[in-house]
Amino acid sequence: EQPLLKVKNLKKHFEISQGLFKEKIIVRAVDDVSFSIRRGETFALVGESGCGKSTTGRAILRLTDATSGEVAFNGKNILSLKYEEMRSLRKRMQMVFQDPYASLNPKKTIRQILMEPIRVHNRFPKKDRIKEIIKILEIVGLSREHLDRYPHEFSGGQRQRIGIARTVILQPDFIVADEPVSALDVSVQSQVINLLLDLQDEFGLTYLFISHDLSVIEHMTDRVAVMYLGKIVEISETEELFRDPKHPYTQALLSAVPSSHPREKKERIVLKGDVPSPANPPSGCSFHTRCPHVMDICSKVTPEKVTFGENHAVNCHLYTEKNNKEEKNHAIIY
Ligand code: SF4
Ligand code: MG
Repeated sequence: EQPLLKVKNLKKHFEISQGLFKEKIIVRAVDDVSFSIRRGETFALVGESGCGKSTTGRAILRLTDATSGEVAFNGKNILSLKYEEMRSLRKRMQMVFQDPYASLNPKKTIRQILMEPIRVHNRFPKKDRIKEIIKILEIVGLSREHLDRYPHEFSGGQRQRIGIARTVILQPDFIVADEPVSALDVSVQSQVINLLLDLQDEFGLTYLFISHDLSVIEHMTDRVAVMYLGKIVEISETEELFRDPKHPYTQALLSAVPSSHPREKKERIVLKGDVPSPANPPSGCSFHTRCPHVMDICSKVTPEKVTFGENHAVNCHLYTEKNNKEEKNHAIIY
C-alpha cells in the first residue's frame, strides 16, 4: 500500500551572517531526511531542540519552503504544487501547535475561532456550520456553553482542546502535532494525548508527532525517527526502539528515561559536550564529537544506513561490517 506521506531527501538550508565580517554561513537545519508514514499511523520525530524536527514538520506542510527534496502526499509531490493547488490540500494537512495560547486570537470568541477555517475552506452548508462547531466542541470535551467565551477564560488544557478542534473541524487526513502537550501541566498532558488518540480512531487520522518527550512517544506512537543535527540517525518501530536502541545517541537519550523494561538495569549515559552548531556540523558522523563509541573512521566517513529487519535502520559505523573489521585491524596493528 502506498504510504500517505513520503518524504525523500528533504533539505532545509538557510544562510546566516556571522561574526565581525558578517561571514555568510549555511545552516543545515534539515539535511537529507527521508521517511514514510503509513495511513493511520502515528510517526514520531524525536531529538533535542534545534535538531530540525519542527522545521521538518513545517517544511512538510509548506509553512516553510524546503531547499530541496520531495514530499509526496497520496503519491503527489506537494512541494511543486502551485499556491492554489496547495490551498485545497491544506485542509487535509493540518498542524497542532505547541503553544495553544499563542495560536488562538485573544480577541476572538471560540465561535469565531472555529468558524474561521470553515469559512476559509468553505466547508459545510452555512446553515449547518454552528451545528458542526458544537459537535466538534463536544468531541474535544467542551460544549455549546463555551461558544462565546474568549481564549483567556480557559485553562491551558482547554485551550489545546480548542486548538485541536480548530484543526479537526476541517476533517484532515494528516496532522503534524508539534510538541502538542509540552506546554501543559503534566496532569493534563495525558488527557490531551488520549484525546488525540480518540480522534485518530474516530476520524482515521495520521499523525506526525514531534516531541522531545520520550515517555509520551513510547506511549502513543507506532514508529520513531531519531534526529540529530538535521539528520535521522535511527528509525524503528517504537516498541523495538525502546527495547533495542542501536544508535549511541538513541541509547543515551533513552538512558535518561525511567525504564519501562524492568529487565534492564539502565546506566544513565551522560554525553560529553553540547550539541554542535548546525552551521558547522562535525565531519563524517556528526555525532562523533560526543559519541562514547567513536572510532577512527567516524570523523572521516558519513555512516550509511544499516537495516535490521524491515522496520529498523540506523546510521552508525558500529554496524557496518567492513568498518568493524578495519577497526579490529587497527587494534591489532597498533
Ligand atoms: Fe558513534 Fe561512530 Fe556510530 Fe557515529 S558512527 S554514532 S561516532 S560509533
Ligand atoms: Mg521545536
